[in-house]
This record gives sequence, structure tokens and C-alpha cells, in this order.
Amino acid sequence: MIEVRKVNKTYITGEEKLHVLKDVSFEVHEGEFVGIMGESGSGKSTLMNIIGFMDNKYEGEYLFDGKLTKNENDDKLSHIRNRAVGFVFQNFNLIDNYTVRENVELPLLYAGLTPRKTKKIVLEALESVGIPEKIDKYPTQLSGGQKQRVAIARAIVHNPKFILADEPTGALDSATSREIMEIFKKLNIENKTTVVMVTHDRSLASYCSKVLFMVDGNLEERFDL
Ligand code: ADP
Ligand code: MG
Repeated sequence: MIEVRKVNKTYITGEEKLHVLKDVSFEVHEGEFVGIMGESGSGKSTLMNIIGFMDNKYEGEYLFDGKLTKNENDDKLSHIRNRAVGFVFQNFNLIDNYTVRENVELPLLYAGLTPRKTKKIVLEALESVGIPEKIDKYPTQLSGGQKQRVAIARAIVHNPKFILADEPTGALDSATSREIMEIFKKLNIENKTTVVMVTHDRSLASYCSKVLFMVDGNLEERFDL
């Protein structure tokens, strides 16, 4: 599904050039749970932005379902992004003055569904992350772990091709982190959801079916974590 071939990314700020991704190549197949690990600043988020169709300024190729996406215009790219990817971030990125229901509903409204049609789908998504009873709460009334569950429900509600999670447990304590990892694992096994997850926490490697490690801009597959 995801095929990255010799991708290079250099940030240029003034006189400074920072070569962040160096000939990065990897694949993600449907149904995999891929962990991307590496030290802070090693380029993990830079890579996530590329495979999440947020950044198309790079050298090399990214094929999604066999198609090159780099030269699509911004409108087409955001269309692909909205349909294909469910994002989960470290800081949840929920809208505080929207209820849980309204937050989770957003991707469905983007996809053109009428509010009448979203009700059942939103509830099912919240059930699959274990907090249907929070549907009418606001994010500020929830714990960090509950907020992340809402964010995961929002990420899966429109049935995207894959979930992209960038440090989803970075703001959570270790017990809550494991609960959140269990949810990703359950979605991966029961619903066959493809997950690409960035984390710098090596203790979470055991949840992944494949671990890629970023070292000095190079991405290598690792089996010893
Ligand atoms: P990670 O997610 O692994 O912590 P990032 O991909 O965020 O790493 O960053 C990799 C490197 O690129 C870091 O040195 C960071 O400071 C730099 N960087 C990230 N984004 C930008 C940007 N927009 N402009 C310039 N440098 C950037
Ligand atoms: Mg990062």
C-alpha cells in the first residue's frame, strides 16, 4: 500500500542545510502494524508528514496503492489525505469547544455525509475505543487517555486506508500508554486496520509487527528490539 523509494529530504533555513532523510526506503502492506522508532530529532515526523500527504517537497518516490502522489496539486493531495489517512497525534488535537460526538463526526462531514447519517457510525467508533458513554462530554472533561481514545475514534471513523500515529503515547503515563497500545492492537487484529506508528519508546516495540529504526537519517529494519 505504502511504498517509499529513496526519499531524501533537506530543510534549508538561511545558509543552513539539514539533510534529514537519506535514501529512505520502506514498504507498508495492508494489515501491518509498523513502528518507526528513533531518537528525538532523527526525522520521524518529517517522514510521517510525507507519507501522510502533508508534505510533497522531497526527492525520491512515494507510491500509494501503486500511484505516485508527489505531483498532485494541493487540492488533490488534501482529498487523498482526508480519505486515506486517520491521524493521531501526541497532543490529541481535539477541538475543545466541540463535544466528543462533534469531534469524531468531523471526518464524516468532510466526506460529505449528512449529520443524520453520522449518528450510528460515530457511536460505533466510540464503542470500539471503549468510551461510548463520553459522547456528550467536552475534551476538557476527559483524562489524557480518554482524549486519546476520542482521537483514535476520530481517526478510524471514516474507515481510512491506514492510521498514522505520531508519538500517540508521548503525553501519557506508562499504564495509560499500554491501554492505548492495546486499542491500536485490537483495531489491527480485529478490524485489520493498518497502523503506522512513530514512537521513541522502545518498550512499545512488542506491539508492532515490524519495527523500522531511524538512525542519522537512515531507516533500517530492526529485529532486536
Ligand atoms: P523527530 O520527529 O524524529 O523528532 P523531526 O522530523 O521533527 O524529528 O525533525 C528532524 C530534524 O529536522 C530536526 O533536527 C528538526 O529540528 C528539523 N526540522 C523539522 N522540521 C523542520 C522545518 N520545518 N524546518 C527546518 N528544520 C526542521
Ligand atoms: Mg516527531
